[in-house]
Amino acid sequence: MSSAIDVAADLVASAQRGVAFTGAGVSAESGIPTFRGQGGLWTKYDPVKVSSIDSFLADPTSYWMVARERGRVALAAKPNPGHLALAAMEASGRLRAVITQNTDGLHQDAGSKRVVELHGSGRSVECLVCGARERRADVQVRLEVEMPPRCRVCGNAVLKPTVVLFGEPMPAAAMDEALELSRTADVMLVVGSSLVVYPAADLPLVAARSGARLVIVNAEPTPFDRLAEVVIQGRSGEVLPELLQLTGA
Ligand SMILES: [Zn+2]
Repeated sequence: MSSAIDVAADLVASAQRGVAFTGAGVSAESGIPTFRGQGGLWTKYDPVKVSSIDSFLADPTSYWMVARERGRVALAAKPNPGHLALAAMEASGRLRAVITQNTDGLHQDAGSKRVVELHGSGRSVECLVCGARERRADVQVRLEVEMPPRCRVCGNAVLKPTVVLFGEPMPAAAMDEALELSRTADVMLVVGSSLVVYPAADLPLVAARSGARLVIVNAEPTPFDRLAEVVIQGRSGEVLPELLQLTGA
């Protein structure tokens, strides 16, 4: 009898229209704390309160005080072996794209070319008055002397990272692209997502209903495990490189 990872490797190796779907677990292995994780920055704050659009608009300073601390960690993070393995699977034609719930840009840093960011990108910042954009890294430097940060074009203090906050809609173009990729996928590799954040968590269901075979790699059980062809419980930074090697890529 083949082990789970051998079965998963066969599926990925045979994929013609494979897609990866990644969540916070992949970023956590690069040192970025998750909403639900133990011990990280989030244990100090109520994430919904701090990261909702209403509280941002009411009090940008409080938002940016937390964002300054988070930004130090997120902007210094490096891709881990899981990110690199996914980029290699795309390069060898096993994956068409990575759909991600993460906003840290680490898939792009690892070399993934087609990355669909369902919750936006934390790498840039947008002025809600004039629409001017800046690199998040440039704003991060300014936060040490300017709180909240001001737009360099119009001077208003409503700069918001281009991430989806609680209470904001998902970016329609990214959601459409993700749905199309999921509907047409023959294999979906779900990695490091607890699959509880909707509507993003609908995507594996869309893929499965359209005939895709699901491979789930996660530290804990997910609500979709029974739909999956293979479930591997473990760290993505360890499982994905092994999977890549077994596919012969
Ligand atoms: Zn502006």
